[in-house]
Amino acid sequence: MFRKFVLSVALAAATTVVAPLSGQASASEAPPTALAVNVYYDTSSAPTFASAIRQGAANWNARVTNVKLVENRSAATLRYREGNDPRGSYASTNGHGSGTIFIDYSQARQYYVTRITAHETGHALGLPDHYSGPCSELMSGGGPGTSCTVASPNATEASRVNRLWANGFVGTYDWKVIYEQVPVHS
Ligand SMILES: [Zn+2]
Repeated sequence: MFRKFVLSVALAAATTVVAPLSGQASASEAPPTALAVNVYYDTSSAPTFASAIRQGAANWNARVTNVKLVENRSAATLRYREGNDPRGSYASTNGHGSGTIFIDYSQARQYYVTRITAHETGHALGLPDHYSGPCSELMSGGGPGTSCTVASPNATEASRVNRLWANGFVGTYDWKVIYEQVPVHS
């Protein structure tokens, strides 16, 4: 630990010495120190749920460090849509930040909307469904019923996404269409 600290200080000192030689611009052009990969998303085709989508993204951003969701229509690889579909909401995604998330009006009336948007976003970040899980799990989706309002990933889900996106998520992945099958509760 101490050796690392000394090295960091040495590098910082070297940077400080070099920077004035290249002028003011070097400060703003310095590469970001964070390793997070940005996933750009677009809410323009889901205006009814835009604020819920943003809140769901913020909930993920508050808990994961290796990937960051950023709203940016022109750069978007992840697009949200809304409408009616008898199959319900779905995520058509490669699990690596690309694809389409569809929010179904009927499900949005039944379930807590931010839980839906955050859950679907979880698919776009690489997580599968786990309907048998408790309300405290985001990816249990509709499993715990319509009263569940948890809209943030739990620690296990956040660490799983962080592992998937470590080093920018260089692993292989498949495109999937994941429909939300609303479990029947008696
Ligand atoms: Zn799902």
